[in-house]
Amino acid sequence: MHKKIFIPGPVEVKEEVLAKMATPMIGHRSKEASELQRSITAKMQQLWYTKHQILLSTTSGSGLMEGAVRSCTRKRAAVFSVGAFGERWYKMAKANNVPADLYQVEPGQATLPEMVDKALATGKYDLITVTHNETSTGVQNPVEEIAEVMAAYPEVVYCLDTVSSTGGTKIEVDRLGVDICITSTQKALGLPPGLALCTMSEKAVAAAREVEHRGFYLDLLSLYDFIQKKDYQYPSTPNISLMFALDYQLDRILAEGPEERFARHRAMAEYVRDWAKAHFALFPEEKYCSNTLTVIANTRGINVAGLINRLKERGFVISNGYGDLKEKTFRIAHMGDLTLAEVKELLDNIEELL
Ligand SMILES: *Cc1c(COP(=O)(O)O)cnc(C)c1O
Repeated sequence: MHKKIFIPGPVEVKEEVLAKMATPMIGHRSKEASELQRSITAKMQQLWYTKHQILLSTTSGSGLMEGAVRSCTRKRAAVFSVGAFGERWYKMAKANNVPADLYQVEPGQATLPEMVDKALATGKYDLITVTHNETSTGVQNPVEEIAEVMAAYPEVVYCLDTVSSTGGTKIEVDRLGVDICITSTQKALGLPPGLALCTMSEKAVAAAREVEHRGFYLDLLSLYDFIQKKDYQYPSTPNISLMFALDYQLDRILAEGPEERFARHRAMAEYVRDWAKAHFALFPEEKYCSNTLTVIANTRGINVAGLINRLKERGFVISNGYGDLKEKTFRIAHMGDLTLAEVKELLDNIEELL
């Protein structure tokens, strides 16, 4: 029996979307391949409210994260981390010999605009990374306020990890001044894993042109230049099957309506938060709670692993806490194409087991 997954990626995928992956193959140097990538690009630009070029990568989201920090850091990167995925960006910088400093907060706290301002005021940095929605702690960072700070530093390339929020939360890339906004298919977009997407602003392109050693496969500039030179194609062989599914799922998302989709995510999030407050407590401060997953503090000291196992017997899967938070928290994802009714059914089952 298939167990319904409420974990922060991979997520449930609609059968009709999965079926698109069985579309007969096309050549990756064909006119059809160009049309497919152009179509995905136009729809992603709509979903991200951006005019910037969209890049595709046949990797998961981490691929473009690594590519961004390596390809576009000329001097030094400031990595703002509120959890495991923020730290990942720092590890990537170090592993690629990219000079970087890590700015961390206690788990459950957010990256505040003052922190970004203080770091950038030193003049040491020409690139920053921020996690929009930290999947390990359930924090959604205040990107509106951070955008106000960034407006004062027009020379700094702004990279934003929206892997677990794109498709579930409104992210107005151009208005927020984000240069490289990154996501992958297997979270709120509601697709199988295997492709990553990002925006690349002219500023990011100019920065990359100044960097000599950008790597090869994950060189964002080579992805960008290839699109111009080869009319919307990919330098290597892309995951064409998933591109068919992505193009179709983006039609579904735009047909639902981005605003309606974001409202559905907000309604699921509010319901889970209210439930969490009635039975346990929220792990992050409420005003920084994510709209795509809720991290619940295990204030009752329940056996989280036991709860997860018993839920599985009933056909539902949720996540334990991430890393050190394994038993101290548990995580319920409400992203992609899940509905409020499905979330309610899950919570009713958890309540019976408690
Ligand atoms: C899942 C996740 C990642 C990693 O993405 P992959 O697609 O698994 O490489 C990065 N950042 C955040 C916030 C995530 O939730």
